[in-house]
Amino acid sequence: MTSTQQPRIAIVTGGGNGIGRATALKFAEAGYAVAVWDLAEQAAEEVVSAITAAGGVAIARKVDVSKPEDCVAGVAAVVERFGRIDVLINNAGVVRDGQLVKVKDGQVVGQMSADQFQFVLDVCLKGVFNCTQAVVPTMIAQKYGRIVSTSSVVALYGNFGQTNYVAAKAGVIGMTRVWARELGRYGITANAVAPGFIATDMVKSIPEKVYNALIEHTPVGRAGQPDDIARAYLFLADDKSSFINGAILSVDGGSVIGT
Ligand code: ADP
Repeated sequence: MTSTQQPRIAIVTGGGNGIGRATALKFAEAGYAVAVWDLAEQAAEEVVSAITAAGGVAIARKVDVSKPEDCVAGVAAVVERFGRIDVLINNAGVVRDGQLVKVKDGQVVGQMSADQFQFVLDVCLKGVFNCTQAVVPTMIAQKYGRIVSTSSVVALYGNFGQTNYVAAKAGVIGMTRVWARELGRYGITANAVAPGFIATDMVKSIPEKVYNALIEHTPVGRAGQPDDIARAYLFLADDKSSFINGAILSVDGGSVIGT
């Protein structure tokens, strides 16, 4: 981006930690002004400090993506500050793992609770809906927008103990395809990234045996890094990616091949 061009404006949800943090930093490095949204306000502010210290432009905001009113107010604040919104990266996410039914010695001893199911759906599915619905009127008025949402390879092949998360991530694929159809005529593209096994803080709690098995099932022989996903977001968000619409891009080192 040359200095004569207006910077593009990107919102990154869940931008305070992990993949979202790497994404906010990557977009800032690429010349975007970044709105870092997170439920964890301090984490979002820390990311903004890192961006501004490096000479970039960013604002932090506490947004709970599961609340439509938070998303609408967040959009208003970004428009007030920057006058437009070019990119929405729907990255905020949570997990609350549990088996549909837990069986011990042939007896059902537990189950995923309705609250556990709903909580993950509220953030990972409804949160994506809320943020997208909040930004789209601005994007339609500009006749330009890039919506990139986070699915997961588990949406394609399932995962033990993740009925809730898989349901949400499969739903993100469906919504992305609907939006690609509904919004393409307004210069807005909708795509999703499906990360594979990514080495975030969450991975530290994975037993070594499981970790090694995951690597073994990844043809490139390593775990992904947050930056691998950030690069995919950046690519799909680019102006020149205007003919990529409704795509689900697996970024997983090849682990879904053959599934
Ligand atoms: P990952 O490993 O996928 O990057 P993290 O847990 O590190 O996962 O990051 C997810 C981010 O999403 C965190 O910064 C978290 O605070 C944020 N987040 C979780 N729930 C919400 C929510 N309801 N609204 C906004 N941000 C959220």
